[in-house]
Amino acid sequence: MCRSHIPQPVVSLVLLDIYEARALQRKRFLCQFKLFSMATHYFQCLGCGECCIGLFGQHGKIWLGLFLLPWERKLFPSEYIHPRYGEGRKPSHRKFRILAYQMSANVCPHLADNKCQIYENRPLICRSYPWIPNGTVDTDCSFWKDRVDSYGQWVTIADSYVDELSAREKIRKDMDVRKPNQMWEYDVATKSWGKAEASRLSGL
Ligand code: SF4
Ligand code: SF4
Repeated sequence: MCRSHIPQPVVSLVLLDIYEARALQRKRFLCQFKLFSMATHYFQCLGCGECCIGLFGQHGKIWLGLFLLPWERKLFPSEYIHPRYGEGRKPSHRKFRILAYQMSANVCPHLADNKCQIYENRPLICRSYPWIPNGTVDTDCSFWKDRVDSYGQWVTIADSYVDELSAREKIRKDMDVRKPNQMWEYDVATKSWGKAEASRLSGL
């Protein structure tokens, strides 16, 4: 239909709709901007030590401890060290490679007076905390507990996590996974290997 044939009241209604839609969009944007500004909290560790306890626990069907890269094993007493991830056709295969280990103490043996006694040399997984690879933070971290309650999703500001993100990136690179479909994980409770859960691998 030719534009000139559209009755004037219809044109006015359409224009009004467009105007209102834009006003609504502006309002939504301002609202989001306000929430975003309110939530710009740059992460600062409180040194409470809460993330250094409760390290060993059940995840799905298996029991896991603190994730360690191979050279980080020497930071902990050997009785706490177990394999974590391996790669190969099966664990008994001669080419099976252990890519990562885990530390099974529930309270970190390096925690004293709520302070890390090996802070300068702590493992990468500790350096990356409380950043979680899915793009948010661990809300169990004392710094974020109250803030997340107030601001929900808007608390995650990647810029404030430069060190944590680079530690995560280093873990991902140093794990050196070559065959993701041949990954195994070790259950500390049963002392046995099983096929790695894809969801846990994607969290590395
Ligand atoms: S729980 Fe959070 S605030 Fe407390 S020591 Fe760990 S990283 Fe720092
Ligand atoms: S190594 Fe340090 S930062 Fe890591 S869990 Fe132990 S006490 Fe905490």
